Amino acid sequence: MKATTAGIRRTAGGSLKTDDPMKDILQALGIAPVNSGGYDGEWMKDPGGPGLESSSPVDGNAIAAVTTVSGERCDALIGQSRDAFLKWRDWPAPKRGEVVRQIGNAFRQHKRELGALVSWEMGKIRPEGEGEIQEVIDIADFAVGLSRQFHGRVMPSERPDHRMTESWHPLGPVGVITAFNFPAAVWGWNAMIALVCGDTVVWKPSSQTPLTAIACTRIADRVLRENGCPAGVLCLAVGGGEAVGSRIACDSRIPLVSFTGSTAQGRRVSETVAKRLGRTLLELGGNNAVIVSERADLEMAVRTVLFGAVGTAGQRCTTTRRLIVHKSVYDETVRRVVRAYGKIRIGNPLEAGVLMGPLVNRGAVEEMMAALEQVRTAGGRVLCGGERLRDMPSDLYVSPAVVEASNEWPIVQAETFAPILYVLKAGSIEEAIAIQNAVSQGLSSSLFTLDLREAELFLSGRGSDCGIANVNAGTSGAEIGGAFGGEKETGGGRESGSDAWKQYMRRQTSVVNWSKDLPLAQGIRFGD
Ligand code: NAD
Repeated sequence: MKATTAGIRRTAGGSLKTDDPMKDILQALGIAPVNSGGYDGEWMKDPGGPGLESSSPVDGNAIAAVTTVSGERCDALIGQSRDAFLKWRDWPAPKRGEVVRQIGNAFRQHKRELGALVSWEMGKIRPEGEGEIQEVIDIADFAVGLSRQFHGRVMPSERPDHRMTESWHPLGPVGVITAFNFPAAVWGWNAMIALVCGDTVVWKPSSQTPLTAIACTRIADRVLRENGCPAGVLCLAVGGGEAVGSRIACDSRIPLVSFTGSTAQGRRVSETVAKRLGRTLLELGGNNAVIVSERADLEMAVRTVLFGAVGTAGQRCTTTRRLIVHKSVYDETVRRVVRAYGKIRIGNPLEAGVLMGPLVNRGAVEEMMAALEQVRTAGGRVLCGGERLRDMPSDLYVSPAVVEASNEWPIVQAETFAPILYVLKAGSIEEAIAIQNAVSQGLSSSLFTLDLREAELFLSGRGSDCGIANVNAGTSGAEIGGAFGGEKETGGGRESGSDAWKQYMRRQTSVVNWSKDLPLAQGIRFGD
């Protein structure tokens, strides 16, 4: 394949005219020039921490400032969350569900504005921003139904006239630490489920996206007040990883810490929580692959790879990072992918027709360039893209890269949070699956094939080792109805749908003896 960057379409650098619409949107969402980053049922007047400026990667300009929460105020906020829990757990679960139903509806009303803010603050295109808010709405709907379905079990007792049951009870305040790339949805996945389970939530958002967190909390706050919910059911603590994040990890009043972010930070958080024997739910980095079999529908595969690799500018945990192609269709597949990359419109993510916005910050651009340098040094070939784009509204725009590489190279083994797609060749479906599994992460995977045996092998115990395995569908864009998460260094957590709710509750096994005797299990006789 010949290296090329020709054909990448950009929007004109000077055409950014979104400041005025954003002003209205910020106003509609209650975002002021300076905002409190602390909420414990009331917005803290003096959260006590240093100021933080949120700037847009779209044009590099400041959007608004936030006063962060100090360690001391964070401790008090956790106390408030604990007090709220003691009251909230007594609300009947369907009544908690009714509150969540109203929160979902409030998000429906603000979907457009919130979607635009997500797009403006982190750089994903507007349809993806709105899609993220739709996830909050969907999980709220799911949680409402769930609020009437926390089924326990009745198990046969080995003792006569004994009843053995299992029930689920509220757990306590849940610490929710989130990444920049899904600044609303990840909170939604955790908070809506936690609320119906009878838990309270302390949210620490990424410092890249504090305004989205404040806007979401404002919307939820109105509903909580209208329903007379205990103050502190939902708390927000904007602040640094050390100042606030590690405080949450250390605090034994928080029985569960749900952490979404890089494997490196997740490992630290996990160690801290484990030291106090708390629980973690870890949603960490991925290194996701699409396998294209010799019996694939290539047209479908290529279109899927495009969204998977370039969507959110390669900054999804489920982004397609590796494309493993059967040698017989390798040249044709790679040719089509490179041609499709040439048609991607890059620019202001709020503009219709743009498919890729900027990367989130300079660090991300530097990491992408450093990764490409490592690939070149290792002998890899950049087939297209991989350049910083000039004459754009900020210096955070890059062209997505397609690179011929080798799976064992350290850079291919690592998650670079940027739009780099490594293409790899395989001689058989078995070899392709082995390549796909030969990384330390285990989040999402996909196989394109029209062959039933290949599909079933991929989904069998000998197949993909990932938490998500799809056939003829891409690695990204999961639905909320399934349990979401991954194996190995992705952390093993599951959140969102299916029975992920069980992690937010404590399980209790009970035996009721309604006989007149005191038989012991295992037939043990003691003292008679
Ligand atoms: P990050 O690890 O840099 O930050 C995540 C969160 O951790 C932020 O809120 C940050 O402030 C906080 N943090 C930092 N230091 C901390 C500490 N010592 N104690 C507690 N919290 C601390 O990640 P990021 O750059 O925001 O997000 C990108 C990463 O997140 C990627 O690796 C991506 O794959 C991963 N991610 C995973 C999923 C998933 O579901 N598996 C979803 C989204 C993102």
